[in-house]
Amino acid sequence: MTGIYPWQNEQWQRLMEMQQQHRLPHAILLCGPEGIGLKQFAQTAAMQLLCLSKDPETNNACGKCQSCQLYNAGNHPDLNLIEPEETGKQLKIAQVRELIEYVALKSFSGKQKIAIIEPADAMNRATANALLKTLEEPPSQSMLFLLSHRPSKLPITIRSRCQRIDFKPAYKQMDIDWLKDKLVDSKLSAKALLRLSGGGPLKALSMIEEEQLEFRITLLRDLKLMSKNNCDPVQIAASWQTLGLENILSWLLKIILDLIRLKLLHDSANLINLDLKEDLQDLVNSLDLVALVKNYDFVLLKYQQSTGPMNYNPLSILEEIVLHWNNPEIAK
Ligand SMILES: [Zn+2]
Repeated sequence: MTGIYPWQNEQWQRLMEMQQQHRLPHAILLCGPEGIGLKQFAQTAAMQLLCLSKDPETNNACGKCQSCQLYNAGNHPDLNLIEPEETGKQLKIAQVRELIEYVALKSFSGKQKIAIIEPADAMNRATANALLKTLEEPPSQSMLFLLSHRPSKLPITIRSRCQRIDFKPAYKQMDIDWLKDKLVDSKLSAKALLRLSGGGPLKALSMIEEEQLEFRITLLRDLKLMSKNNCDPVQIAASWQTLGLENILSWLLKIILDLIRLKLLHDSANLINLDLKEDLQDLVNSLDLVALVKNYDFVLLKYQQSTGPMNYNPLSILEEIVLHWNNPEIAK
């Protein structure tokens, strides 16, 4: 599967210009929200760079030459992609070492030797350091694509040695139309899904099937019960746990942010949970702005702790959040 997505045109043009002006860097950092299609962009670029007879009109890969055939068969000897063995896990240092050796080898086709690291922020410090030397003194034919949804997590030494191409969240009408075309039987509109996904159309597509979307309604209902002191906090924390701590915290942050937006901006608020506007409005009337901001800070702190290097007990974090909801003063 190759080809860029409609929302990637500008970035593609930029890459093509660099190529035509013979100023392609040895390392490009592609950054953008989850589901914006960074991997497919890098793969399409690799196919184009390696193609032996590009279309003279469009400069796109021909799809027919020996190189394109190897690419389509998934075994081009001048292209290598590494990703963590399990989603969400770190890249192993051995994977990166192999990649470094690989880009130093002579190119099979006499063109570039291309490597894609997906995602680059899945490298720990030692792994990133191993890659650094290759970025500082790149082999002449090497071309690295580093992909990241969270570039701030990359060491500055890595970032500073890459040329960066940014992809903004895709919220334009044409992005909504693209998604609308792909949606079958979705309870949510394309626009609402795009907002929920953070502007990543591919993520929006994958979200339709997730139970998480439904769970937002439960979360909102629980927040309402909590605000009325009409519940057992421990029981609520336990029921939230089934969705996974990181998921719950990230949804809570989005919901609280929407509540703050509604409180401040009323009807003109740009909501993430656009489809739940009425429920949110209903809840926000009984809430205090200062308490909301304090709760946001508290959940954010817990989110950062739980995604950090220390191990925390998920249930006790959730209990703290539930207890904090009505008593934001006692925090920290
Ligand atoms: Zn070709």
